[in-house]
Parts: sequence; C-alpha cells; structure tokens
Amino acid sequence: MAKKIFAANWKLNKTPEEAREFVINLKNETFKIEGFFDKCEVILFPSAFSLEAVSTLCAGTAIGFGPQNIYSQNSGAFTGENSAEVAKSLRSEFILIGHSERREIFKEADADLNKKHLLTQQLGLTSVFCIGENLEQREAGKTLEVCLAQLEKGLQGANKSERLIVAYEPVWAIGTGKVATVEQVAEVHQKLHDELVSKGYASVQLLYGGSVKPDNAAELLKINYVDGFLIGGAALKVESFLQICNKA
Ligand code: 13P
Repeated sequence: MAKKIFAANWKLNKTPEEAREFVINLKNETFKIEGFFDKCEVILFPSAFSLEAVSTLCAGTAIGFGPQNIYSQNSGAFTGENSAEVAKSLRSEFILIGHSERREIFKEADADLNKKHLLTQQLGLTSVFCIGENLEQREAGKTLEVCLAQLEKGLQGANKSERLIVAYEPVWAIGTGKVATVEQVAEVHQKLHDELVSKGYASVQLLYGGSVKPDNAAELLKINYVDGFLIGGAALKVESFLQICNKA
C-alpha cells in the first residue's frame, strides 16, 4: 500500500519556539508507533519565521517540510518576499503553492502561481499545489470547471515526469467545520485523477483539505484517489494531528 500523506498547514500560527515544541513532541510520539513512517508521509508547512527551527529539528528524520509560499523569483529587489532558493538551502523539499488564502486575500493570480510552480520544479522541489472552488462557484455547479481551469493554468509548461502533489480544498470547507461530503470529494478527486493521467502526469498524488478532523478522517481516506490530507486547525496540536495520521 502506498503511504498516505499528512500535510500540516500551520498558516500564520506558532512562534519558532512553539514550532520546535511541536516537532520534538511529534518525533517522540511517532517513535512509539511501530512502522509509522512506513504508512505515513508527514509534511510540515510552518510560517516563514519558523522554517529554520523546523528544519534544524527535522534534519535526519523522515519528516518533510517547506514554506507556505514563495516569490516567483529567487532573489533581487523584492522587499518582504520569501525565496524558494533560501527555503531549499534550509533543506525544504516541498512548497505550498496557491492556497485559497493566497488567492483570495493576497490576490495571487493563476499566472503568478504558474511561475511559482515552474520555479519550484527548476529547483528540484515538489509543489503541493492547491485548487478549489468557493461557495458561489459550487452553488452555480461550476466546481469541476473551476478546479480544472486552476490546474490547467497553474501547471502550464510544467515537467510532467516530476512528482506533483495537488491539494483539493473547497474554500467553503476551510476553517468552517463544514467538511465536504464523501460524494463531493469522490467526484472531484476522480475527475482530477482522470484529467491528470490523461494529460500525461506520471506521479501525482491528490490531497483533500477542509475541516479534516480525527472524526472524519477515516471515511475521507477511504475515498478513491484521496492520497492524504492538507490539514489546518487540527494540525496545530500533535495529538489531533496524529489521531488523523493514525487512520492510515
Ligand atoms: P482547516 O483544516 O482548518 O479547515 O484548514 C484547511 C486548510 O486550509 C489547509 O490548508
């Protein structure tokens, strides 16, 4: 059985000290669970200021990590931005791209996200590329159309033979406690899988995100083409995060 992926998006939470405490705790707890990393791949997305703390503590472990966002250029006169090259120098292997909060609050457009994805690939890192419809789009019956368009534009010109992780996060399910139903997730994941395979992507894994909690994780994980989760609130505490991982 392929490993399931459990990615923690801490958003703008945790000081470096709190991030360190989480990783130390996570290492202690997973050490007690036999074969944990044979079943689960863990990826942490701390905020930029905590990346180095996470990197130091994850060195030599199976825990992957990376930044929640990067700029589309590695260096230069871009005050306030974060560099993918620097994230790589801190041993990041993953980059979260296109989270709906980036798209909505910070107005990141598909073309910007495409540049970030291409840069990530050039550096030999793996994107966790987020897509998802908002409530209005779902109610208008446009879910698949929106998700496929985000994929198409975001991945344009990408190297299809590299590993890619796509996270489907319906915006209306993020931080609302309103999880998508099994049928809704199944429909989108099946379509994403078919689309990506037909486009020739060799190694794609699909995550679901949006109010994933210990009590809904098991049924969501059983859905075809759900290869894991991108988790917000429930990934802030080691206990609830591991309760979710342990459903794998
Ligand atoms: P919640 O799990 O808090 O709904 O957040 C989901 C999310 O946005 C992960 O990227």
